[in-house]
Amino acid sequence: MEVIIMKVEDNFVGRYNPIKRGKSCLVKCNWCGKIRRIGLSQVLKGAGKFCSKKCHINYQKTLRLDKNYNWKGGLAKFSGVMYVKQPDGGYKILCRVLMEKCLGRKLRANEYIYRRDGDIKNDTLENLYIVSRQKHIRNMISKQKTKPTRLEREFLGYCNENGLPYKYIGNGKLWISDKKMRVNPDFINIRQPHVFIELYGCYWHGCKKCYPSLKVCGRQQYIYGIVKRDKKKRLLFRKKELVLIEIWEHEIKNKSFVKLLKDSGYGEKK
Ligand SMILES: [Zn+2]
Ligand SMILES: [Zn+2]
Repeated sequence: MEVIIMKVEDNFVGRYNPIKRGKSCLVKCNWCGKIRRIGLSQVLKGAGKFCSKKCHINYQKTLRLDKNYNWKGGLAKFSGVMYVKQPDGGYKILCRVLMEKCLGRKLRANEYIYRRDGDIKNDTLENLYIVSRQKHIRNMISKQKTKPTRLEREFLGYCNENGLPYKYIGNGKLWISDKKMRVNPDFINIRQPHVFIELYGCYWHGCKKCYPSLKVCGRQQYIYGIVKRDKKKRLLFRKKELVLIEIWEHEIKNKSFVKLLKDSGYGEKK
């Protein structure tokens, strides 16, 4: 940034002091282009680049990111992961920026970046690959559901007591899928492999006996979505000609499911 001098004038009479004489020059503002006159000695000191403070601030606003004199690369570390500063002032995770540069396009929201060695500090391009949202969700489910929950363990205990031939498959071992949805049932009947069992918690699946009004639960919208999904699940099993037995939490608590299973013919030991 330099001072733009239009014209140097000799013998200029000072505005306030007519006796004071000296050299002056006409200077153009670097931002708005306004021409004004200041003394040459001021210009030699480096003044006269802008006509006002406002123009200077407006100019400084354009000096962002790498144009700022204090720029050190724009990398920052939050909880062990590297981020890159963005023009809008926010931060973007480094692995996504690298992948976008490599592909030459923006990543979609349903594309996830995974690391081959699983180390979040390793941000080299060879270590990164893209995973779709479907696969990502599948990964998360299989990570989460490796062990049966408390309710499922209780159910298995009663099965062993009463000799019911059911086996736990809720950790993603077996999927029943359609174009629209994929279901991983909780239990399978070993003797009759077309019979499956799903356990429903009374609170989250909207049991009408224990929670007659959905408003009791507070998060009725969320529960409404689960109930809708359960309905679709029933249709899917009917379409595939499989048997889906739904057991509620309260039926396990009072052990009435044992009689229910034996009466329906899916419980006896052959
Ligand atoms: Zn100006
Ligand atoms: Zn219930």
